[in-house]
Amino acid sequence: MDWDSIRISKENVSWHKIIWFPSHIPKFSLIAWMVTLDKLPTKDRLVPFGLDIDDVCMVCGSGRESHDHLFADCPYVKDVWSAVLRLCGIRCVDFSWDQRLNWLIENLKDKTLRSRILKLAWTGFLYYIWEECNHRQFRGLSSASEVIVIE
Ligand SMILES: [Zn+2]
Repeated sequence: MDWDSIRISKENVSWHKIIWFPSHIPKFSLIAWMVTLDKLPTKDRLVPFGLDIDDVCMVCGSGRESHDHLFADCPYVKDVWSAVLRLCGIRCVDFSWDQRLNWLIENLKDKTLRSRILKLAWTGFLYYIWEECNHRQFRGLSSASEVIVIE
């Protein structure tokens, strides 16, 4: 891994603790880890390589598909995250990716059940968004945001 390419401050690896924690779900944490390291190939990355694709977000069909769009700013993704937070009894604030990550790091430091549930919610959220992208890209299947959360 190219350590210098990590977009979040090298000194601040505290986000590891919201991904790798006792009772984490390995497949959720693995994807959450790759998303946080910004290692997943979003379209804004692929277009400069000359691949014959547009850079429109495949989830909402409007924004430009970048890491921050896909995991924070996309309206569809915001719907999913606010529904997840609602289920946890938390009011969703309209945060950017970095703000949200900092909020989670600051608020999930303790070892309470609430913190563990929210860490599972966070890693699960990232996993399901990634899975939804794959379904759309490779299988031509799409689910409404409510369906991801409830069904
Ligand atoms: Zn989008």
